[in-house]
Amino acid sequence: MIDRIHWLGHAAFRITNGKVIYIDPYKINHDSPKADLILITHDHFDHFSKEDIIKIKKKETVFVAPPSVAKALDGDVRPVKRGQRIKVGDIDIQAVAAYNIGKDFHPRSSDNVGYVVTIEGTRIYHTGDTDVIPEMKEIKTDIALLPCGGTYTLTAQEAAKAVDIIKPKIAVPMHWGSVVGSRKDAEEFVRCCKNCEVRILEKE
Ligand code: ZN
Ligand code: ZN
Repeated sequence: MIDRIHWLGHAAFRITNGKVIYIDPYKINHDSPKADLILITHDHFDHFSKEDIIKIKKKETVFVAPPSVAKALDGDVRPVKRGQRIKVGDIDIQAVAAYNIGKDFHPRSSDNVGYVVTIEGTRIYHTGDTDVIPEMKEIKTDIALLPCGGTYTLTAQEAAKAVDIIKPKIAVPMHWGSVVGSRKDAEEFVRCCKNCEVRILEKE
């Protein structure tokens, strides 16, 4: 499954399994394949980019997003809240908590989410913008897409702590190389993770 996960820079991913799934598309190429499904974690410009959605949207595209984002979208929009689980075709989507502790960029009171997406039996966890939070103990996933750029989200060291809690088979650093964070942070994440394979994906 990992080879079907394409990092598009920052927190943006495309997953292909016959269907084309995007999470938080941002600064993506104009010739990117059209989306069957777009998941948005929260309403910050670097996660909810209408300009990028226009590039990949088609008539049948299904959107999954928290209510604050859903209300600003047109078409087949499925609002989700933390703890909610929905199915889109054969893709299972669980919306999970995502928030900061000790900083105010992503308050717990907002409706921000992360997602655990199950595709053909493989679980992929996109954390959204978050710190290490107690809810991570409940996450079961094969692959974890984790921020490591710091400032608004996890630093590399904190991302490694999250890995110790979540225990994925593979972790992928994100939220670096664009708005905040650099390759150094991704490499530091690799160094800090002793018991998990961390795969730095090359930006597509
Ligand atoms: Zn954010
Ligand atoms: Zn962000």
